[in-house]
Amino acid sequence: MIELNNINDKLNLNNGVQIPCVGYGTFRTPADVAEKAVSDAIANGYRHIDTAAVYGNEEAVGKGIKDSGIDRKDLFVTSKLWNTNRGYDATKKAFQETLDRLQMDYLDLYLIHWPANQKQFGEDAAKINAETWRAMEDLYHDGKIRAIGLSNFMPHHIVDLMQTAKVAPAVDQIEVHPGWPHTEEVKYLQAHNILVEAWAPLGGQGATVMTNPTILQIADKYGKSAAQVCLRWVIQQGVVPLPKSVHEERMIQNKDFFDFELTDEEMEKISMLPNMGGQCADPDDVDF
Ligand code: NDP
Repeated sequence: MIELNNINDKLNLNNGVQIPCVGYGTFRTPADVAEKAVSDAIANGYRHIDTAAVYGNEEAVGKGIKDSGIDRKDLFVTSKLWNTNRGYDATKKAFQETLDRLQMDYLDLYLIHWPANQKQFGEDAAKINAETWRAMEDLYHDGKIRAIGLSNFMPHHIVDLMQTAKVAPAVDQIEVHPGWPHTEEVKYLQAHNILVEAWAPLGGQGATVMTNPTILQIADKYGKSAAQVCLRWVIQQGVVPLPKSVHEERMIQNKDFFDFELTDEEMEKISMLPNMGGQCADPDDVDF
């Protein structure tokens, strides 16, 4: 693995674009909190911000970015296409609306938030994903997005997509945390040169990951918090974590996990922990 020493050390995407190895998450950050949270995160050193149309906070995220006074080119901004806007024309329209809300003229990374699944769309699912991706490719070729990718796509969705894709996805953002490691999927994506981003790297709201005795015992050994152990476990797999916190002291804590290294045995032990909650959503079974 490339040596990473801080949250803004870069990893290469498969098209040569560089991405800071830790992102700042904004899911469930209400619009009236997001402006300050994002500008606080940037003031505390974060340069990679992850939002989505469905979070309802893109406008506030854009304002927070403006307030920070940091040059747009020094930030890495991701947003995602929501499920109600799949298809060629709707994707292009929704993308422009996202840019308008963020007050930006390009995105660093744009993701299809969830694959259309067979449960909802039957045999049309693959065709819908292909048409959505064709719009993403055209926006990419127009220079409006520096890299395009996926979220919550499992290997079989990617196999289908690659039947017609002309641009390979640069990223897949999936749920990865202790108790929900998606080990086989991470291996598949990395073998196909698709960078993996971990959503809910701390387990997300309501999970008990951070009170798990194994995690706490390892945290104690290194003089670190449970959150820092989770983030370290994620990044040691070459996966980009996207921790979210609206509290400044936690934003600071969530950057500080580059001064210790988990042993192979500890990595394995954490990977084998049982499910401790989280969304644990199966993309083939969701009905949103
Ligand atoms: P996280 O795993 O980042 O956990 C966030 C929760 O943990 C919040 O309740 C936060 O509370 C708390 N927390 C944060 N830091 C600490 C800490 N150091 N100690 C104790 N508690 C802490 O969950 P998310 O679901 O937010 O996922 C991260 C990001 O991934 C999202 O914000 C979003 O950008 C992305 N995401 C993408 C999805 C997708 O489908 N592509 C789905 C879900 C998330 P508080 O804020 O009060 O500090």
